[in-house]
Amino acid sequence: MSELHERHRAVMPSWLALYYDDPMEITSGKGNRVTDAEGNTYLDFFAGILTNMLGYDVAEVREAVERQIARGVVHTSTLYLIRGQVELAEKIARLSGIPDAKVFFTNSGTEANETALLLATYARGTDQVLAMRNSYHGRSFGAVAVTGNTAWKNSSLSPLNVHYLHGTDRDHPAFRGMDDAAYTEACVADLREVLATAVAAGGPAALIAEPVQGVGGFSMAPDGLLAAYKEVLDEYGALFIADEVQTGWGRTGSSFWGIGNHGVVPDALTFAKGLGNGFAVGGVVARGDLMDALPANGLSTFGGNPVSMAAANATLDYVLDHDLQANADRLGRVVLGGLTPLADLPTVGGVRGKGLMFAVDMVDPETGAPAPALAARVLEEARRRGLLIGKGGLRGNVLRMAPPLTLTEDEAHEGRDALADAVRAVDAAAR
Ligand code: PLP
Repeated sequence: MSELHERHRAVMPSWLALYYDDPMEITSGKGNRVTDAEGNTYLDFFAGILTNMLGYDVAEVREAVERQIARGVVHTSTLYLIRGQVELAEKIARLSGIPDAKVFFTNSGTEANETALLLATYARGTDQVLAMRNSYHGRSFGAVAVTGNTAWKNSSLSPLNVHYLHGTDRDHPAFRGMDDAAYTEACVADLREVLATAVAAGGPAALIAEPVQGVGGFSMAPDGLLAAYKEVLDEYGALFIADEVQTGWGRTGSSFWGIGNHGVVPDALTFAKGLGNGFAVGGVVARGDLMDALPANGLSTFGGNPVSMAAANATLDYVLDHDLQANADRLGRVVLGGLTPLADLPTVGGVRGKGLMFAVDMVDPETGAPAPALAARVLEEARRRGLLIGKGGLRGNVLRMAPPLTLTEDEAHEGRDALADAVRAVDAAAR
């Protein structure tokens, strides 16, 4: 065990997720590559943890942050006007498509979801909320309450009365093998059943859902399912919160927001991760009437601070100026096309992708059961081949890839081939 790993173990929580048998310390980055403390360089096919959506050491972002720091104001107080905050809010409100949208900035996705839940429960006067099985929404009490993924749910104490919908676990025995139309119909029937049998009079405040479940293993509901849900929610006056912490800013390729693939505009949309390209920025954009309705004063001390805003404005401008959504769409197809043949291997249960989000399910070659140990081995093999990827999923067996949106064609081939090679090596050893 490395000296730093030992010190980490001594003073940090045992449940803090760390990748690799021998966890690495990343000490520098350039373009879409990072270098560890031992001098090994890797192509980062997970963009940090979807945080570095432009990759590393991007001049536009670095210079914007440096200009702000050079003024001598890293932060004073959100009680004063902050120009970058207003400018960013204007852009996000416009991009959201939400009518009369207003934006509140936080430091994380967790706080963003907490705020959205606060808005919805206050507006609707109920603590009843619908969430999805297998979801992950963050680490505060409200966000844990709506988290359905038991691998990430460390508490059952909840300030909310939560009912879970089926949604995106297409491996569930009751739903397995259904085509998109049949699956959507079954999920809507599930929603109606929950509303009729579990939700008390007055209906729920809201449904919170990830357009593509991130931590849950990039599980993808059929396009349109969330619109079908929304139709039913509208009958009850319930709101719809889209958690776009992993799926926003063009990552899914076919749409700027993940929710666009479903053809629905939410009442509130939460974001974080990639927007600051490594700097801590989160927030919620919501209908102005919902946002303005809260009766008491509020602020986030560091949410929307000038340095984060400088980073976020520069990052978002870069995404738009370089049309990175189109890049995600185009190179997503290149990578997915190369990964799809892996589905024929006995240890691969499935391959899927949308834009620059890809998943490969590792399974036991004999039984087809989820095989988290094989997924962990692929991570090690990929590392050996100079490639960083993620893993996750309800059963821990899903390889997750989400490279920076600035991925180049050469890097798309390189990452795809290294990953395919790593999966094949693990497959051969497992048989
Ligand atoms: N929502 C989703 C979909 C996420 O993936 C995450 C983090 O992984 C969160 C919320 C929580 O965000 P944060 O870790 O910034 O609090």
